[in-house]
Amino acid sequence: AKEKGRNNFQFFTSEMNAHAFERMTMETWLRKALERQEFALHYQPQVDIGSHRIVGMEALLRWNQPDVGMIPPVQFIPVAEDTGLIVPIGEWVLLEACSQNKAWQDEGLPHLRVAVNMSGRQFRQKNLVEVISSILKKTGLEPECLELEITESIAMVNADETVTKLHALKAMGIRISMDDFGTGHSSLSYLKQFPIDTLKIDKSFVQDLTRDSTDNTIAAAIAAMARGLKMKIITEGVETEEQLTCLKGMQQGDVQGYYFSHPLPPGEFAALLRGGQPL
Ligand code: C2E
Ligand code: CA
Ligand code: CA
Ligand code: CA
Repeated sequence: AKEKGRNNFQFFTSEMNAHAFERMTMETWLRKALERQEFALHYQPQVDIGSHRIVGMEALLRWNQPDVGMIPPVQFIPVAEDTGLIVPIGEWVLLEACSQNKAWQDEGLPHLRVAVNMSGRQFRQKNLVEVISSILKKTGLEPECLELEITESIAMVNADETVTKLHALKAMGIRISMDDFGTGHSSLSYLKQFPIDTLKIDKSFVQDLTRDSTDNTIAAAIAAMARGLKMKIITEGVETEEQLTCLKGMQQGDVQGYYFSHPLPPGEFAALLRGGQPL
């Protein structure tokens, strides 16, 4: 089988470049991954910056492809997006995240919010509001316990449509956060029209926080703006005590990052919740 695989590879590379080959293979695999149950969600805690208590979690998609092992989301999500497969995959993510969160609540664990990443194509889906509403109904999760993460680039594609859609989602009680804030083509004038609950400060502003005064200034300015707009803040990518100390000096809100925990498989995340807090 190995020999045949190699021949196949040579055949394809003589006809097209290696990139196209990889893409085709991945697309074929990706089409089967849902029915073969190769996806899983890992959960990363979001903690209150003052108390270090877990207040929420971000669901992060993992693909365990049997032949090659773990494929990171940055590699397959663009392919899923281009092929449209992101729509059924994204729906699976929503259903899984909501039903897992509800199962933990039913077990007596604290009612937390679970944040789910939206892709552009998924967000622009005509019936997104209905899909989410039916998932909430099916799982019994309170809408307040679901947070959707969109990015500035997703929001700005058709800003008027985004405003309408976000209002419909907000009316259901769902929370909205602006992911990777500060890295996209943000339009601050639109920010006040989008009904956003949370600004998620991108990890690129955290990395050099203690050394680079420019990043300090930017992170502090975003925090001040969020306060003014009555939005919450989550800072992601917090890896060191130094970064955390620096953030504590300038903002309230929540933090997320390897300093507290890597994204964990459900069993380990539940153990973290049961183990008592704060982290
Ligand atoms: P993101 O939404 O910005 O997610 C945060 C990423 O930062 C995650 O990578 C997470 O593991 C990583 N991270 C967390 N803490 C730290 C830290 O302290 N330092 C550093 N350097 N990184 C940290 P991951 O899981 O590989 O996901 C990458 C991206 O893939 C996500 O970026 C998101 O854009 C996308 N993604 C993940 N799951 C989904 C999903 O279910 N649907 C969609 N549409 N996109 C997803
Ligand atoms: Ca995210
Ligand atoms: Ca992010
Ligand atoms: Ca991102």
